[in-house]
Amino acid sequence: MKTLCLLGATGSIGQSTLKLVDQHPDLFRITALSAHTQVDALIDLCRRYRPVQACIADPGLFTELRNGLSAAGLNTTPLAGPESLEHMAADSSSNTVIAAIVGAAGVASTLSAARAGKRILLANKESIVLAGQLLMQTVAAHGAQLFPVDSEHNAIFQCLPAGGGRDGVRRLILTASGGPFLGKSRADLATITPEQACRHPKWSMGRKISVDSATLMNKGLEVIEAHHLFGMPAEAIEVVVHPQSIVHSMVDYRDGSVLAQMGEPDMRTAIAYGLSYPDRIDSGVKALDFRNLGHLEFQAPDTLTFPCLSLAYTAIGRGGNAPAVLNAANEVAVMAFLEGRLPFLGIADIVAQTLDTLAWEPAADLAVLMASDAEARRFANHRIH
Ligand code: NAD
Ligand code: MG
Repeated sequence: MKTLCLLGATGSIGQSTLKLVDQHPDLFRITALSAHTQVDALIDLCRRYRPVQACIADPGLFTELRNGLSAAGLNTTPLAGPESLEHMAADSSSNTVIAAIVGAAGVASTLSAARAGKRILLANKESIVLAGQLLMQTVAAHGAQLFPVDSEHNAIFQCLPAGGGRDGVRRLILTASGGPFLGKSRADLATITPEQACRHPKWSMGRKISVDSATLMNKGLEVIEAHHLFGMPAEAIEVVVHPQSIVHSMVDYRDGSVLAQMGEPDMRTAIAYGLSYPDRIDSGVKALDFRNLGHLEFQAPDTLTFPCLSLAYTAIGRGGNAPAVLNAANEVAVMAFLEGRLPFLGIADIVAQTLDTLAWEPAADLAVLMASDAEARRFANHRIH
């Protein structure tokens, strides 16, 4: 029986995970749940799954959570605040942690799960962008296991040789849907609204990652993620636009073989593989219907219209705190765009300015990276206002 600590239970990945748990009550039991501010939704989930612990990340909502749990007659322990999230991720009531918080807010709990030697299903890509080296080292040092849930990385994980041995790998090929604005020009993008940016043609996701997909920053973050997860240099990670989102990514071997992982665009496939590895379970995702699939297209990304992808390669090249700076500036800019304070094209501008202005530092430890994250947020916010 896998005991699950689900961080970010109220989000898109959180909800997909719960569907899999509902489908396989014999295999998985929820022992810990977290949410950011949606305390009523969290209490409802506690009624359904009866976890040992529940944490609301906003510390001001502790009393509401405690009273709600006791009114519901539950003996779930109420917790609140970012430090409690870290404790919950390390608690022995779970052997598996699903890191599905959005943004750098997820880094401390992901690292805590790694220090506790947990099996980690990593959806929270921002934590590996911010602290990639540190996270990989912590996972190795404490015997934790990291399963990529991001569909592209899950695909690559499935296509790489099981026993390690990367010598035969020539390139990793990350597919990108191209987002809702594929084929548009910069002029077309000037007046984009948050609603348009969040209407993804293929995937249903949270608002932040939807905007990242629209700017192609999501693919940039994923290049950095792949660099750390699979130990490949940036030059050996190629991005190709594939609007149908059927091929989730590929591994190109030196002998000319290319292995691809395919499926319907539904995150339950990747989550199910992480949950059940090395077994395969029913995920509820429908089988691919090749006879009616039609064309699969592939093309180069348009990095002039979508400069965020190039900015991510720049950040890998610089190393040190640069990916943390890129990520923080992007989080601030995306939030400002979603709140109507920044035009769509301003997102890439803010990230570029922040990356070019902040001082470079080596990624010595988490304190340095968090200081860079905070400084980048201050700079980006200042530029926006
Ligand atoms: P979402 O916005 O739907 O959900 C985010 C979750 O994080 C919610 O439960 C929210 O309560 C919690 N949260 C938000 N801010 C928080 C904070 N400051 N402290 C603690 N908790 C906080 O996002 P999502 O689409 O589920 O994405 C989650 C992560 O998974 C992101 O890093 C995203 O990039 C990654 N991811 C998502 C998808 C997808 O299909 N949705 C695919 C690949 C990767
Ligand atoms: Mg992805």
